[in-house]
Amino acid sequence: MAYENPEGVMIGLEIHIQLNKLKSKMFCGCSTAYHDAEPNTHTCPVCLGLPGALPVLNKEVVRAAIKVGLALKGEIAEETQFHRKNYFYPDLPRGFQITQYDYPIVSNGKVVIEGEDGEHEVKIWRAHMEDDPGRLVHIGSIAKSKGVMINYNRSGIPLIETVTAPDMRSPKEARRFLDKFRNILEYLGVFDGNLEGAMRMDANVSIRGGTRVEIKNISSHKGVEKALLYEIMRQKNVLRRGGEITQETRHFDEARGVTLSMRTKEEAEDYRYFREPDLVSIHVSHLIPEIKATLPELPDAKRARFLEEYGITDMHAKALTSSILLADFYEGVCKKGAEPKTAATWIADVLLGELNYRNLVLASYDGVSLGCINDKEPELGNSFKADDMVELITLFTEGKISDKAAVEVLRTKLDSEEEKTPLQLVKEKGLFKAEAELVVKAVSEAIAENEIAVQDYLGGAEKSLNFLVGQVMKKTKGTADAKTARELLVKELKS
Ligand code: ZN
Ligand code: MN
Repeated sequence: MAYENPEGVMIGLEIHIQLNKLKSKMFCGCSTAYHDAEPNTHTCPVCLGLPGALPVLNKEVVRAAIKVGLALKGEIAEETQFHRKNYFYPDLPRGFQITQYDYPIVSNGKVVIEGEDGEHEVKIWRAHMEDDPGRLVHIGSIAKSKGVMINYNRSGIPLIETVTAPDMRSPKEARRFLDKFRNILEYLGVFDGNLEGAMRMDANVSIRGGTRVEIKNISSHKGVEKALLYEIMRQKNVLRRGGEITQETRHFDEARGVTLSMRTKEEAEDYRYFREPDLVSIHVSHLIPEIKATLPELPDAKRARFLEEYGITDMHAKALTSSILLADFYEGVCKKGAEPKTAATWIADVLLGELNYRNLVLASYDGVSLGCINDKEPELGNSFKADDMVELITLFTEGKISDKAAVEVLRTKLDSEEEKTPLQLVKEKGLFKAEAELVVKAVSEAIAENEIAVQDYLGGAEKSLNFLVGQVMKKTKGTADAKTARELLVKELKS
């Protein structure tokens, strides 16, 4: 069935991503690791925009941009150059952003997403390099703030701005595009989407071929979907009442779930773009073959290989390649000897479910070992490693523990900073199948063989229960958990 879009919804996105995995800033040697740093400690005359300071282009930024362009199946410009985008704002002390204008490094790319009616291509018009401004920190809430502080640690962080064609036809498609886009960039190893401010989005939307409205600066994929849902509804209502959609820029109020008018849209002329005279044109064609050769396996290719190599279902392959960390984790577990299909179920269904439920995300220690971190505050002490997964799966597939017991162990590991291995936890909690059955058997034997003690207990002599517990312990050679034995005895005797 063809996808219906009676309202003629057309959505385009502009996405800024920080190349936060690169070591230094775009035009100076300052470190990009600013997230936990004291304010204004990762700065120098260049990224503070002091008069006379000259930018020197970090070649890693160019290499990363080429990688992104190739991964987006785009064309890489033979010659590319920088422009100044002039505007005044306190977070931009030089008075202009160094960006690219009519010669972006990447153009005409595409990303295939799972659309409303099957696979669907989203065209990428362009992707270009530019530097991030500093960051304004309001004292208290923005509305009532008594003052604003400025932190220039972010100033000069390399960004890639990507502009798509209005090829998405629903808020859900926009979100799917963003998930896929983020995934591709993380595979390239130039970007970590978990860091605050790593990905910022503007969405534009029009309906029935009308005027398009832009919603600025949304920080999450979910936020983009919500803002678009609201905005489409708002535009429909305006048209229904016989009104007109005005071309404007709107702001998304995440807490209230509404978009609010900010200003009418500024035109490119307002920025007085001109060539950045402090930087020469760059020619990159000689770099392309080498970068192409070292491009990592990307999500679609990995998914196809997982299907082929591990014989898992398409749903599992999709889930397991939805993040490079998860994919590496899965392969790590398989290489360490877990059966691939079972591992896929335990990782894609069980582990992912438990992580989502706890709002945990994956983090990598060393490429194979997985850590679970809170979205906001990484707690890397709280870990669940590939080795743990292998041990757990093995205990389960060898029939030593039930699936329920395996889930219990997994939850214990995720909920605490438990350093014990799954095997140690199984022992400690008495979760071995055989063990549990042994205790049950010992309990019924103890009851059958000690009629007097049973009668005494039922007659009110609590002490007799201790005797029966002792019998169970004796029969299990002390391996039973005394508390469990007591509970089972009471249950049996009272039934
Ligand atoms: Zn600097
Ligand atoms: Mn930009």
